[in-house]
Amino acid sequence: MLTSFKILVLNYSYEPLQFCSAKRAVVMVLSGRAEQIECDGFQIRTPSSSYPLPAVIRILKMVKRNRRHQVAFSKKNILRRDNYTCQYCGISKHPMTVDHVLPKSRGGKTDWENVVVACKPCNLKKSNRTPAEMGIPLLSRPSRPDMHWIHFAVPKGPESHVRIWKKYLPKKVFNRYAFN
Ligand SMILES: [Zn+2]
Repeated sequence: MLTSFKILVLNYSYEPLQFCSAKRAVVMVLSGRAEQIECDGFQIRTPSSSYPLPAVIRILKMVKRNRRHQVAFSKKNILRRDNYTCQYCGISKHPMTVDHVLPKSRGGKTDWENVVVACKPCNLKKSNRTPAEMGIPLLSRPSRPDMHWIHFAVPKGPESHVRIWKKYLPKKVFNRYAFN
């Protein structure tokens, strides 16, 4: 169903804000609150008329975002930051644990910079060692995640829309998106 499609919403500055429903996007365009930026030929039909279904719309006034709002330090958000992927072997199927890069017993802190997602086998194998001592480098250097992107998930959509969205979204958002 076309109406189940999600539409990428850009701020006035072209910065991605969120995804919204197709219905909401069309209403925003028709009411003049947003403009259609990209469209791929899909149409929404009502009994009396039809409207082009946008892939991307842009709000015609600047929406302020609170950049200082910080992401809560929790296992759930560590998993989201690391894309539910073991930062040692890259696997994402096992039940995941949270691992201290510099072990706690050796003074490692419990914070964004020292905690990563690890699968159980890697966590066990690593034990009381550092990644260097284990000889397995981390997939990425842990850091405090950006509030905005941690909640940004690319919805399922027609392949042509996904290709269009890629132009507007940072790469890290697409790292979480499984192309089939
Ligand atoms: Zn692993």
